[in-house]
Amino acid sequence: DLNAELENLVQQRTEELKAINNELTKEKLVLQQLSSIDSLTGLFNRLKLEESFEYEQKQSKRYNTELSVILMDIDDFKSVNDRYGHNVGDKLLKEIAQVLKTSFRDVDVISRWGGEEFLILLPKTNLEDSKKIAEEVRKKIELYPFTKIGNRTASFGVATHSKNESLSSLLNRADKALYEAKENGRNRVAVG
Ligand code: GH3
Ligand code: MG
Ligand code: MG
Repeated sequence: DLNAELENLVQQRTEELKAINNELTKEKLVLQQLSSIDSLTGLFNRLKLEESFEYEQKQSKRYNTELSVILMDIDDFKSVNDRYGHNVGDKLLKEIAQVLKTSFRDVDVISRWGGEEFLILLPKTNLEDSKKIAEEVRKKIELYPFTKIGNRTASFGVATHSKNESLSSLLNRADKALYEAKENGRNRVAVG
């Protein structure tokens, strides 16, 4: 009976460990979420985008495919906060995130890059197609009836990754294009 008793004990300990393991797995999932998701919009955050870029850059090099980015910035966003308050500004950010989520492919990585700036990574997509997609999203946003404020617009900078280029260099080009879109009157797409 000593044997039976020992077996029982082992069984009991195994169950306990299983329960602990389950808890740890759940906590790990929560932490992964926290470290990769922007809490306001539910989009990926900057950290996750940087990780994804590393991965996609390798894929693009290995399989000789193109990799593009779209940098988007809401036009005159400050005026929304000033006129309607910060909560309405937050609501606009959430609605913009929804538009983005329904506009891209599953393989695209959509992130909130900064306050009212969004960066989208488009694997296997050339400059011409990225420009077309940005243009479609621009139109969608222009027509979207945003809560309390109605119509708003956004500007876009598009760039395609060159061989062995760093993320910061690629972003620099997208950022310059975005700046040009703003300078030329906003609510437009420019290519860098
Ligand atoms: P532009 O067309 O040149 O982009 O003008 P803008 O007003 O959009 O740009 P600006 O950079 O002057 O203002 C961005 C504003 O975004 C300022 C900041 O208070 C606001 N902002 C940043 N993050 C958040 C956020 O999480 N929630 C809200 N409500 N506002 C935010
Ligand atoms: Mg901005
Ligand atoms: Mg802005």
